[in-house]
Amino acid sequence: MNLLFHTVFSVSTSPVISKKTVRTDNTLKYLGLGFISNIVIHGVMDLVPHDYPITTMIDVFVSFALFFLVIIFVKREFRIPVFFCFLGGALPDLVDKGLFRVLRMNNIKLFPWHWSNVINFFYKWYKHPWLFTIGNVLTIAVSLFLLWVNRKFIFKSMAKYISS
Ligand SMILES: [Zn+2]
Repeated sequence: MNLLFHTVFSVSTSPVISKKTVRTDNTLKYLGLGFISNIVIHGVMDLVPHDYPITTMIDVFVSFALFFLVIIFVKREFRIPVFFCFLGGALPDLVDKGLFRVLRMNNIKLFPWHWSNVINFFYKWYKHPWLFTIGNVLTIAVSLFLLWVNRKFIFKSMAKYISS
């Protein structure tokens, strides 16, 4: 899936993780949870049918712009949870489609959901063209749902320039 979809989703999980870090002494446990769960969800997102509506350059640019925008608009203490969630969501692509490509090792993929045999195993079931919008629409829908459910926390605790 485009990096932007991974970014939107991982950033939307950050209020859930941020809320946990506020209410615990074991911050590291929840940062780890945010990081690992976003890596796993990245895998799921790559294996459900999806489209690539955005070209690579724009994709990378808009994704990082969105991440930095969120970093700017959250209070200092929530930057770390946002960063860990985003890093987990983006890491598989940053490594397999970024780092290895830069190093000219295009055939090396660390994450199994980027392996062609794994992709083909799943994609042979996706027969209908309309299926391919599902992953993208679902990602946005679930992200908006997560943001909506956590709206109180986002506006009252996380956001920097909105005082209540
Ligand atoms: Zn990926």
